[in-house]
Amino acid sequence: MPKFDVVIVGAGFAGMYMLHRVRQLGLSAVVIEKGSGVGGTWFWNRYPGARCDVESLSYSYSFSNELQQEWEWSHRYATQPEILRYANHVADRFDLRRDILFNTAVKSAAFDEKNSDWEVKAEGGGLFRAHYLVMATGCLSVPKAPDLPHLGEFKGRILHTADWPDEMDFTGLNVGVVGTGSSGIQSIPLIARQAKHLTVFQRTPNYSIPAWNGPLKAEEQREMKARYNELRDKSRNSLSGDYADECVVSILDLTDEQRETEFEKRWLEGGFNYQYAFIDLMTSEEANELAAEFVRRKIRATVRDAKTAELLCPKNHAFGAKRLCVDTDYYETFNRDNVSLIDLKADPIHDFVSDGIRTVRKCIPLDVLVLATGFDAMTGALSKIDIRGRGGVALKDRWRDGPKAYLGLAAAGFPNLFMITGPGSPSVLANVLVAIEQHVEWISGLLAFARKNKVTVIEADADAQEDWARHVTEGAAKTLYMKANSWYLGANVPGKPRVFMPYADGVSTYGRICSDVAAKGYDGFHLS
Ligand code: NAP
Repeated sequence: MPKFDVVIVGAGFAGMYMLHRVRQLGLSAVVIEKGSGVGGTWFWNRYPGARCDVESLSYSYSFSNELQQEWEWSHRYATQPEILRYANHVADRFDLRRDILFNTAVKSAAFDEKNSDWEVKAEGGGLFRAHYLVMATGCLSVPKAPDLPHLGEFKGRILHTADWPDEMDFTGLNVGVVGTGSSGIQSIPLIARQAKHLTVFQRTPNYSIPAWNGPLKAEEQREMKARYNELRDKSRNSLSGDYADECVVSILDLTDEQRETEFEKRWLEGGFNYQYAFIDLMTSEEANELAAEFVRRKIRATVRDAKTAELLCPKNHAFGAKRLCVDTDYYETFNRDNVSLIDLKADPIHDFVSDGIRTVRKCIPLDVLVLATGFDAMTGALSKIDIRGRGGVALKDRWRDGPKAYLGLAAAGFPNLFMITGPGSPSVLANVLVAIEQHVEWISGLLAFARKNKVTVIEADADAQEDWARHVTEGAAKTLYMKANSWYLGANVPGKPRVFMPYADGVSTYGRICSDVAAKGYDGFHLS
């Protein structure tokens, strides 16, 4: 059985950088990847309109100045194919592929207490041993099982946005899209342009801000790159991991006119800039409602049919409490003659028939059904693999009442195992590239420390983990993130415990805490 210092699961942005750092430490490593290529989420999510809603110059690695200077982004927000090209460029540039095993899914991993290492099994029988196991499996990598009544009766094509075929042409077809989160909102305008007719099945309307995407001018890119050190520092010292200006003013201190001016300015800047308009948007219900109502007014001004506009206006959850969407022509798409909207709250799906879908009120013929129904987020990929720690205890059993991980990085009872962007870390509330780099660098620092100090077993302390879980919960309780049935809370997956999973106090606070833990000799870990 091949033995490595480190087995890394997943060759997305987290796994690739972890491999690079581990190599720099002189450790042997293999990355085990289910897909046939690198890129993780950007490998799988190939639906039309898939692009990153964090700006390209920000959603990229900062660890190599040569890399960040040489790579040219074509647009303010990069498309999936462009990000995948970037991931492949990184893999080539740092010669990562020779240590990545593609087309191999990890099935289980068990900690061997006698030898203090991990035995990792792949589907199909491959066996690996490693001193350390790093889970770089992503926060949004396991599609949620479709929970639609009698879906099996439908004989047309069914696609999930996170498992998209290479070629898909909707010309002349009747298409249905279920789901109006980020994936639905990005794909709907492009599917509508091709389809004969598109029916959007909406259970909950979302807040979406225009991206105002466009080509990145060479001069602007040059100017930004010249300031890269400053911009990256700003990102690491921010709440969100982005270098956008996060306003520190309370909306409640301004006049109506001043608020309106700021909202309009942020709306025209586009994307997440809007969410950063005021410091209290995610903590004060009054402030939040002002931001929400501004978006509703924009929807009403865009969508010509007043009834459709009203259905598209989110009214039952706080602005930003479900992840904000960023779009190109989403609301405008509902002005097309070939697009209709079904409000599933008023007219739920009854069942599927061979050539369509029946809601309580009508039968809609469909050739293709697109599921933009989301993911078993944050814990899905970790629970899918049978991970067993001390005493053969399964991680998914330990997490039955909700995930607990010290710093969102390591779990008590699971020595020498680390999670990149695990539950309890900023992860999905952050620009995930910043979150990934911070985790990889911190874990690498710990591995270097362990080697220098002849430590062979690293394990999170159970009390430190409890304290951390409390701290994460208290941080979230101060915010309006609790005011929505979101995937942040596991509310989208039936039976999943309702626990707020990401760390809400921000990237900079989190980074400081992790640095303090390291400075105190990895306080909260047992090192032996
Ligand atoms: P999502 O945000 O979870 O949205 C899923 C949608 O499907 C929701 O509208 C949900 O309605 C609906 N849905 C789920 N099950 C349903 C059912 N049985 N019947 C009717 N409707 C159902 O998933 P997503 O759009 O794939 O996005 C997930 C996350 O991935 C995003 O929030 C974001 O973090 C990330 N993402 C990022 C980008 C990017 O540009 N960076 C792009 C795409 C995705 P309810 O709200 O009522 O549950």
